[in-house]
Amino acid sequence: MRASNSGPKNLPLQGRSPSAFAPPKTDHGDLPGFKYPFAAAHNRQEDGGWARQVTQKDFPIAESIAGVNMRLTAGGIRELHWHLPAEWSYMLYGAARITAVDQDGRKFVADVKEGDLWYFPSGIPHSIQGLGPDGCEFLLAFDDGQFSEFDTFLITDWMAHTPKDVLAKNFGVMTRTFDAIPKNELYIFQGRMPGPLAADQLQTDARTVPQPFKFSLTAQPPKQARGGTVRIADSRNFPISSTIAAALVEVEAGGMRELHWHPNADEWQYWIAGKGRMTVFAGGARARTVDFDAGDVGYVPRAFGHYVENTGDTTLRFLELFNSSYYADVSLADWMANTPRELVADHLRLDEKILASLPQRKVLVAPG
Ligand code: MN
Ligand code: MN
Repeated sequence: MRASNSGPKNLPLQGRSPSAFAPPKTDHGDLPGFKYPFAAAHNRQEDGGWARQVTQKDFPIAESIAGVNMRLTAGGIRELHWHLPAEWSYMLYGAARITAVDQDGRKFVADVKEGDLWYFPSGIPHSIQGLGPDGCEFLLAFDDGQFSEFDTFLITDWMAHTPKDVLAKNFGVMTRTFDAIPKNELYIFQGRMPGPLAADQLQTDARTVPQPFKFSLTAQPPKQARGGTVRIADSRNFPISSTIAAALVEVEAGGMRELHWHPNADEWQYWIAGKGRMTVFAGGARARTVDFDAGDVGYVPRAFGHYVENTGDTTLRFLELFNSSYYADVSLADWMANTPRELVADHLRLDEKILASLPQRKVLVAPG
């Protein structure tokens, strides 16, 4: 007889996570947690925007990628800065102007809108500014799970900690030129709305970076599956993105991202819309099922089997990110179909006729 839950309970959370209290009977063993909601993360509120992050400090399983969710107002600026990890981003809402300059003095200024990506290589300085009418919100992913977005190299912070006479000598101007520079970092602050893009691009005659830092992901035609779509961005179609590979997956109501695993890297997920559940299979009879909502982060270690099922009545949309130059997955259906049928039949005690009737290649997203 199943026991009831008569003691104290967090009903809203329990209601959103039915698989935690009443997991499928196939779950077994003690897998570490692989969900962290951005809603549980501390939010750094500034004039001009906010930022919250999910790093290995709060989410120990996530070794390979750290994530940030950031909002900027129209004119709000994420200060000019750089950092050691590479930065990959997906625009969730609105539009922004992004800038960067590479080690050869080549510039990059572009506007990005919902569905666009950007990638700034390790150590390349950059900025982000919200555009009209309502600024922007985006997801950042860094190729190091320990990286903190609140510990970057900021232009104001560096200049505030450099003697003014050194600044004067560096730029060949009078020391008093720097009397008014900020004494503390700005990080995020309200700025003026930028002018036309072309004017910003043509300010100097420096060349533009040879490989664009921007990519329009949702403008690509998707791989069409029976239960949804998949769009992939990695170094094969977005060459600068040499350390982050991404798939944007849409699963129709009732559909399911098929049983599969990734041979090359851990998977860091960001749930954009809809809801679903995922079971992660870790070998050694270990499997755990977790429910997800929009705004959650999920994580699947390299080679661990998993599926993602849409449990809602709207389209589920999520990102799969990998600390890798390329996207790769191995499909259970594809593996079984392309292995001698008799051999598979002897393992699973299934009739060969049944095996012949199963999908004969990757399904990607199965229909409901
Ligand atoms: Mn950055
Ligand atoms: Mn996957």
